[in-house]
Amino acid sequence: MAKLQSVRGTYDLYGEAKRKAKQVIATGSRIVEKYGFEEIETPIFEFTEVFSRNLGDTSDIVTKEMYCFEDRGGESLTLRPEGTAGVVRAFISEGMQQNLPVKLYYAGPMFRYERPQKGRQRQFTQFGCELLGVEAPQADIEVISMAYEFVENLGLAGTVTVEINSLGDAESRNAYRSKLVTYLKEHIDELSEDSKNRLEKNPLRVLDSKEECDKQVVANAPLYADSLNEASAKFFADVLRGLDNLGIKYRVNNRLVRGLDYYSHTVFELVTDKLGAQGTVLAGGRYDGLVEQMGGGHVAGIGWACGVERLSMLLDAAPTLPRPIAVIPVGEDTQDEAIKIAYKLRRAGYRVEHSYTGNMKKRMIKANKVNACTAVIIGSDELSAQKITLKDLDKGEQKTVALADLLKELN
Ligand code: ATP
Ligand code: MG
Repeated sequence: MAKLQSVRGTYDLYGEAKRKAKQVIATGSRIVEKYGFEEIETPIFEFTEVFSRNLGDTSDIVTKEMYCFEDRGGESLTLRPEGTAGVVRAFISEGMQQNLPVKLYYAGPMFRYERPQKGRQRQFTQFGCELLGVEAPQADIEVISMAYEFVENLGLAGTVTVEINSLGDAESRNAYRSKLVTYLKEHIDELSEDSKNRLEKNPLRVLDSKEECDKQVVANAPLYADSLNEASAKFFADVLRGLDNLGIKYRVNNRLVRGLDYYSHTVFELVTDKLGAQGTVLAGGRYDGLVEQMGGGHVAGIGWACGVERLSMLLDAAPTLPRPIAVIPVGEDTQDEAIKIAYKLRRAGYRVEHSYTGNMKKRMIKANKVNACTAVIIGSDELSAQKITLKDLDKGEQKTVALADLLKELN
């Protein structure tokens, strides 16, 4: 029979890679909780509309990346491609508007039908946060500083750069859009087919294209900064001053737009040059119109999400578990006592490896293999005198101690 395989673009996460991913999520949770964010877990699938109506019907995600299916009841459902739409859906359907601001974070799998390559999977993990109900630039500053503290805590402060831009308010965006359309129409023959199509439906998206021919056209496109109205320019200046004030370095990238329709004002990314084309490890921005667009009230929002696998790939070493203690019974009649001792040590907080079978020599080899620091050797003669042997596996020294003193001796 043919060997069973995982679906293209999906991976089994275990060993060192899993430990790294866990570290990313644990670090993220610890940091954002200090800022008052609380974890939310929304379903992995939602009604298709939750995404199709809100991510923009020309976005890459909606046009070609969603895993949609009809369930047995005939409902169109979609495996979530990103976290924000589901969190905002929950914010509205759970009536959380009553108590603003609301600060939520999440971690979990996302699904996108993409061409698999390094840093691009069909099932991947995001860790992200959303701050709802704050219009002031203080929210932008706080959320970006939180992202920075997060990567700093992963030891990546020197590896990633904060890039930031402002898309301004609706008025500024419209002004920019018409300038951009005029420019792009002059270069229409140089654009990719996708971008010609985008030019009709959502010209801003052309700026985000990954096609080389589009990138060349975009390089000389009008700058967003020149189209910001006074209020938007002030908002952006306030955000930048706030980051300066905290000593957070950033690079204003006038070409930065986000792939989704719902962003306004601040957009930002944390990028690295260590992952080739998949250099964006964390991305976010302000989405003041989204809650209203999804049927809630007028509630401002800002958030970010990181790719856990991409961040994991940047970590040098996975955190190691504490070294275990090996419990080694010698002879049949010491088995029960060995299990009791292992149980006692584990309940006292030690990591314990019980060598299940084999003679003394085999068990000692196993103990070294699991990198045990100490062996607790239980022989029947000693045991009848309520004693056991403790062996330091690094130094090779051993001593006999009273069973009752075991915990004291290990300390
Ligand atoms: P990209 O430009 O690389 O396609 P994106 O703009 O589609 O990214 P977002 O929707 O902003 O990505 O998602 C936030 C983060 O999630 C990304 O910065 C990236 O780190 C990660 N991510 C997105 N898509 C994938 C994927 N297919 N596989 C692994 N990580 C991903
Ligand atoms: Mg993408």
